[in-house]
Amino acid sequence: MELGPMFKGYADPSRHANALYIGGRWEEGGGIPVRDPSTGGILGEVPDAGVPEAKRAVEAAAAAADGWRRTPARQRSEILRRWFELMTAHAEELALLISLENGKALPDARGEVAYAAEFFRWYAEEATRVPGEFRMSPSGAHNILVDHEPIGIAVLITPWNFPAAMATRKIGPALAAGCTVILKPASETPLTAYAMARLGAEAGVPDGVVNVLTTSDPGGVTAAMLADPRVRKLSFTGSTGVGRVLLAEAAKSVVSCSMELGGNAPFLVFDDADLEAALDGAMLAKMRNAGEACTAANRFYVQSGIHDAFVEGLTRRMAALKVGPGYGEGVQCGPMITEKAVDKIERLVSDAKERGARATTGGARIEGEGYYYPPTVLENVSPDAPIAREEIFGPVAPVYRFETEDEAIAMANDTEFGLAAYVYSQDLKRAIRVGRGIESGMIGINRGLMSDPAAPFGGTKQSGLGREGGVHGILEFMEAKYYAAEF
Ligand code: NAP
Repeated sequence: MELGPMFKGYADPSRHANALYIGGRWEEGGGIPVRDPSTGGILGEVPDAGVPEAKRAVEAAAAAADGWRRTPARQRSEILRRWFELMTAHAEELALLISLENGKALPDARGEVAYAAEFFRWYAEEATRVPGEFRMSPSGAHNILVDHEPIGIAVLITPWNFPAAMATRKIGPALAAGCTVILKPASETPLTAYAMARLGAEAGVPDGVVNVLTTSDPGGVTAAMLADPRVRKLSFTGSTGVGRVLLAEAAKSVVSCSMELGGNAPFLVFDDADLEAALDGAMLAKMRNAGEACTAANRFYVQSGIHDAFVEGLTRRMAALKVGPGYGEGVQCGPMITEKAVDKIERLVSDAKERGARATTGGARIEGEGYYYPPTVLENVSPDAPIAREEIFGPVAPVYRFETEDEAIAMANDTEFGLAAYVYSQDLKRAIRVGRGIESGMIGINRGLMSDPAAPFGGTKQSGLGREGGVHGILEFMEAKYYAAEF
């Protein structure tokens, strides 16, 4: 596929194709095509690793493990810091590469690179601040000492929707904790992962500390890695269905799991909300990444008094968005990741329409090359429609009406997921009260964007186990060790 002159340096996909990264060496191979979702064209191929390569990656991570855990925290910190600086120096090239293989609009891709790099800076700082304890037992008879040690080799599996950030959110804390890792990125967006590995090597990450492999047999390859007793951690971000399969696999060797899974975020707007602020927040919560985010607002619950004005304002804003190739001039909404993703959105929208919903803008797929669905607002949506239960993962905003606070909380909680929720009200007391009533790991109050490397990210219910980011993230890669001491 012919690419424009802007795809040079790290943005050039041919630099990152055709090689696995194991033990600091690039091993040539192919077999998995990578597409540009803006056109459907093939950008190149990445290697299709099997069980032998997976075993070699574990060997490489094991060979590097002792040296890395003994490397002083300050030194590990400085390597992470250099990785942050290199990502920042190459931010525009990385953003173009992300936009090319993922399809997201360039402003979103730039935002992702900044967010992703920040995990390296944050964990460069946290590496030197691992907590410990030294205290008397309640009886006063002896001492309790608690230290934290790196948990062991970590397998990291990431999705396609944030190819850089989901990787750094795991690699940053793992390396800061003193663990060596094997990263398996999503097959749709592996080029960014390989580009990041190159930058890591340049930053001084020793051979074998970070290994990257791609495969068309993720189940077999992951099972082989988890079966090795030296692998002690599985950190996964992806769908709840695959998360359940992996939890069962990890149970066989009692591997510690962190699971960042699916979401179905409610977005509540009360009559007393600032309408313009709620609309700004709604656009962010819905349209970052064209709706392909686990925190994306999936259900808009709007109180009767503000409902019509909200629908009218949201429709105007959604209809004004420019749709096109993610890297196109002025584009705000790129393509979906695959044709299958567009098919799913189409099914959810047609089903909602059959149950009485009306599209105030959009509502039908865009035909032609690439995988496009237009920004869509649906009103009068039945709460029984599948669109209220499943992750839409696209630029569609279904709006539901509510009357009372209790009703809104009940509707928000009517889901198996519990990742993110948004509340708009100028009454802070109410916003906190509603937040307390919602079963969710994260609540945005008068904010449409909650991701922050310094904050604990994660879900409850079927949305996952554990937290990434903040002071919590590093402990997911550590084991507490207690010394019962008499002196
Ligand atoms: P997915 O299908 O679950 O895939 C995620 C990753 O798991 C990919 O690398 C995939 O590899 C791999 N995988 C698939 N089957 C596997 C198996 N049997 N064993 C081991 N690995 C396997 O999810 P996705 O479609 O890429 O991502 C979208 C989902 O991720 C959504 O549900 C979204 O909500 C969730 N997500 C959650 C968060 C969060 O922080 N909670 C953040 C972002 C996304 P292949 O690509 O090779 O199939």
